[in-house]
Parts: sequence; C-alpha cells; structure tokens
Amino acid sequence: MATKAKTDGAQALKQLTYLASALKAPRITEAAGRLADHARDAGWTHEEYLAAVLDREVAARNASGASLRIRAAGFAARKTIEEFDWDAQPAVRQQVASLASGGFLTEARNVVLLGPPGTGKTHLATGLGIAAAHHGHRVLFATATDWVTRLTDTHRGGRLPQELARLRRYGLIIIDEVGYLPFDQDAANLFFQLVSSRYEHASLILTSNLPFSGWGGVFGDQAVAAAMIDRIVHHADVLTLKGASYRLRNRGIDTLPSIKTQDTAH
Ligand code: ADP
Ligand code: MG
Repeated sequence: MATKAKTDGAQALKQLTYLASALKAPRITEAAGRLADHARDAGWTHEEYLAAVLDREVAARNASGASLRIRAAGFAARKTIEEFDWDAQPAVRQQVASLASGGFLTEARNVVLLGPPGTGKTHLATGLGIAAAHHGHRVLFATATDWVTRLTDTHRGGRLPQELARLRRYGLIIIDEVGYLPFDQDAANLFFQLVSSRYEHASLILTSNLPFSGWGGVFGDQAVAAAMIDRIVHHADVLTLKGASYRLRNRGIDTLPSIKTQDTAH
C-alpha cells in the first residue's frame, strides 16, 4: 500500500513537471514537491496547498519582472530608499515613505525634488524609481540634457508624436538635473512637450538644484517656464532637501566658506 502511494506520488510529480513546463512555470514543480510534505503535516486543504504553490510562482515572476524593469530603467547608480540615511534629511522621511508605496503612480501624480548639490535628490529619485519597478511600473531614468538629446533625435526623424505616445506607456519617467545646463528654445520646447504629454496621464519625477524661480533662466523664457511648472506641480509632491552635501560629510570640507558659497550658488 505504502509502495503504491509512493508510486502514485512519483507519477503525479512527473506529470506536474510536464504540466508546469507546458505552462512555462517550472518553479511550480519545485514548490509543489517542497510544499507537499509540509501541507500534509500541517493539514492544509487542497485549496490552501494550491494557493501556496501558485503564490511561489507569482512571487518569483514579480521579482524577475522587477529586476528586468530596474535593468531597463537606465539608472545612473542603483540606490534604494532603504540605503538612505534619514538623519541627514529628517523632514522628508514620512513623505518619501508614503511615495515609496507607489500610490502617486496610479494617480499620475509627479514628484519634484529640490535642493543643493549632494543632498540626495538623485538617490531618492532612483530609490522611488526602483520602488515603482517593484510595484510593476515601467521606469525610465535620464538627465534633463539626455532627455532633450533623445527627443531632438526623434523630432529630427519625424517621430516625436509616436515617441511621446510610447513614453506614455511608462508609468514613471525620471528627469534628473533640471537646470544643470540651460536649454535653447528648441530644447525648451521639446521638454515642454514631454511634460505636457504626460500631464494627468503618467508620472514624472524631476530633480533640480534650482528653486522654481530659477527655471525661467533654464528654459530661456519666463512664460514657458511658468506654463511648464504649472503642469508639473498641479498634481505633485514637492520635496525640498536641505543642508550640506552628503558627499562631503565628515570630511570637514562642508564647513569651508568656499564650498558653502558654491552650494548655495547652484
Ligand atoms: P544630488 O542628486 O542631490 O546632488 P545625490 O543623490 O547624487 O545628490 O547624492 C550624492 C551622494 O551621496 C550619492 O552617492 C548618494 O547616494 C549619497 N547620499 C546623499 N544623501 C544621502 C543620504 N541621506 N543617505 C545616504 N546616502 C546619501
Ligand atoms: Mg543629482
């Protein structure tokens, strides 16, 4: 009797291996085998057992989907929210924690990170991007200058509308370092089109060393800057980071007047 049960069990597992590979879900075989004894010992119902097996497959798929999305995003460096030292920026901790839960993406809201160099804007933008990828959103990261270069190329190729439509399928676009370099009029116009095409459709995260009042100088025109800021901040969380550069902490240099002046001048 025991031998027959064993043979039946082995047969069933063999069939499971075949069925799982037909479903392109090979992890089901492994989970089914591993959880079977545990299920018997713990007295699980059939439904509980099936749910536990499928749960392993779904979790593994989500994890590999997230790592693909993170690789495809083009982050300059992989920085996570968990790695962020809140002692340096205590004021934004709650806000970042709630953004990391991903609600802003489903509402197509934006996030703007402002503050002097080295205060963690790129780090937090990247961390929120990684969290978004874990929540199942496609993400693209590039600097403002890179975005303008890409859009200029597609515009020259006559494919700007298609490209903007394609980009709308990304739940999150991160534009790092707005204001680092000023834009000419064509560049400012392309940037404006990117912002407009996402307005109330999909989220943006922008970072800048400049307060909004300095954006007119970047876009060469106060009216263009005002129209853009209007669309960006209509549904947005604006986080202002403060203090000295984290890069220079504990080195004594953050107290040098020359560095201080440089920080605040940006
Ligand atoms: P910003 O974009 O504001 O110029 P970054 O995000 O590039 O600054 O930060 C500069 C460096 O310091 C990065 O390596 C970043 O990971 C690190 N950093 C900045 N702030 C923090 C922080 N609060 N906790 C941990 N690392 C930080
Ligand atoms: Mg930065």
